[in-house]
This record gives sequence, C-alpha cells and structure tokens, in this order.
Amino acid sequence: ATPTALLVGTGRGAQLGILIKGPEILESTRRVDTIVLDKTGTVTSGRMALDDVVLAGEGAASTRSELLRFAGALENASEHPIARAIARAAEDETGVLPGVESFHSAAGKGVSGVVDSHAVIAGTAALLADWSMQIPAGLAEAKRSAEANGKTAVLVGWDGEARGMLAVADQLKPTSREAISQLKALGLTPVLLTGDNAAVAQSVADQVGIDRITAEVLPQDKVDVVKSLQAEGHVVAMVGDGVNDAAALAQADLGLAMGTGTDAAIEASDITLVRGDLRSAADAIRLSRSTLGTIK
Ligand code: ADP
Ligand code: MG
Repeated sequence: ATPTALLVGTGRGAQLGILIKGPEILESTRRVDTIVLDKTGTVTSGRMALDDVVLAGEGAASTRSELLRFAGALENASEHPIARAIARAAEDETGVLPGVESFHSAAGKGVSGVVDSHAVIAGTAALLADWSMQIPAGLAEAKRSAEANGKTAVLVGWDGEARGMLAVADQLKPTSREAISQLKALGLTPVLLTGDNAAVAQSVADQVGIDRITAEVLPQDKVDVVKSLQAEGHVVAMVGDGVNDAAALAQADLGLAMGTGTDAAIEASDITLVRGDLRSAADAIRLSRSTLGTIK
C-alpha cells in the first residue's frame, strides 16, 4: 500500500473535523462492526439542568429549600455534570451554600458528606441501600416517572432517612438521531453504554433509534463491556468523552473521543471528533472505507 492514499485520507479527515492519530488507524476503522456509545456527553449534550424537586411524604419535616440547600452543598464538592446542575440551582434558589466535611464520592453511585452537622447523601437507589435508607412509595413513584421520561433521579437523604428526589434533565444532541441512522446504514450495530439507570437509558435509546443498551455500568466496568463484545468476535469501536470512558476507549479496536470531552478520553483514543458531533463518527468510518478502497 502506498502511504499517499492514507495521508490523503487523514488530510480529508482534518477538513471533516476528524483528527486521526496515525494513518494505520484507518485499517481497524474499516473492520469495525459494533459501535459502543457512551450516553452522557456523547449522545446527549451533558449540559444538565435541575428539572423537578420532589419531597418525601408529609411526615417528613424537611422543606424544599432545606432539600436544595443540603443536596446543593454536597454536590458543590463534586465535578459531575449532575452535581454542577444541582449545586447551581440550589445556589440560585437558596443563596450561598454551606461547606461540606468528610466529602466522599462513590463512583457511579453518588456522593456523601457532612453539611451543617447532618450526614447527607445524594445519588442512586443503590447508594441509599448502602446507607440502609428505605425509599418511601411516593419517592419511588416520582423516581420511576422521572426515569421513564429520560431524566436522572437523584435521591437525597440525611440522618438515616430518604428526604426527597431531584430530577436532572439532559438533552439529546440535535444530530444524534441522524448519526445513529447513518451508522446503522454503514452496517454497524450501535450499543448505548451508561452508568445511568436502565429506564433513562431506554428512553434515550428509543429517541435516537438504538436497539441495544447496557446500563447501570460502574465506571471501572465499562472496559469489560467492550472486552465481552470482542470476546463474542466483534470488532468494536467506542465513542466517549469522560474520564470514565478512557479505559474502554483504549480497549476498543477503535477509540473515538468527543473533542468537547476530557483530555483523558482524547489521549486514550485513536480519533478525535473535533466538533463533538456524533455524525463525525460515521464520517470517519466512511472516510476509512473510501481511502482504503483507493489503495486496493
Ligand atoms: P454516565 O455513564 O452517564 O456518565 P456515571 O457513571 O458518572 O454516569 O454515574 C452513574 C450514575 O451515578 C448517575 O446517573 C447518577 O445516578 C449517579 N451519580 C454519579 N455521580 C453523582 C453525583 N455527584 N450526584 C448524584 N448522583 C450521582
Ligand atoms: Mg460521558
């Protein structure tokens, strides 16, 4: 093979907003049959906003502003996009947030810490279970309904009791649906991969036309999802943006990072989609096929 066609391919890639680490990468791109897509920040914008606040039943003495203040103070110590949305909304509504002591972040589950001498937690049902907190029926119903609508439910509790739920909404990237249809037309099977709840994942998958989902995957387990697809004989591409995605991006036969994502994701990947537009993933596959077609 003359390297000229490959260099043309990579030059054309730059025009399309696709940065390819080396010409040899086009070869693995051509053989890919499965494309694993991180949800937050890849298929969705990752710009989250607080959408709803639900208090636990009348029996609970807590108020909306107490719930926002405690959850906001706690989330103020976290960098997670969900946390940024909650802290921002809490500060807007209740003013300057108190500090947190003994802050701890449980990967893929949520956060805990001490605010105004109360032990506060915010996160998934699994996190509440870890802290032996029961979820009252009203909150469970609010959570189900938020998730069915594609929103992430953050349960909040303190001093041993679940106190409320904060629904956080993300938005689909406007080009995701078209990108998925292009990837399918190229013969690839898209798989949605997320740490988020299965109902949220299903809602997002339905909206963009993805048939296969793997949800509630802890950050350290994302790489195993890629490995098991490879063990089934698939040649796997992975698209992601987060620190969480770096190991899976490196494991994949082809790693594609959103240019809008973290340095860790970009460094672990073979290709950077500069515009953060999933359609560029389809462009990259098409480009590699046409470039290698030229050499043959
Ligand atoms: P994703 O794969 O969508 O980027 P993560 O693995 O970061 O998700 O998180 C998985 C889930 O853990 C989130 O959907 C959320 O329910 C919960 N979670 C993670 N971090 C936080 C946080 N700071 N506050 C509340 N919940 C959190
Ligand atoms: Mg992400």
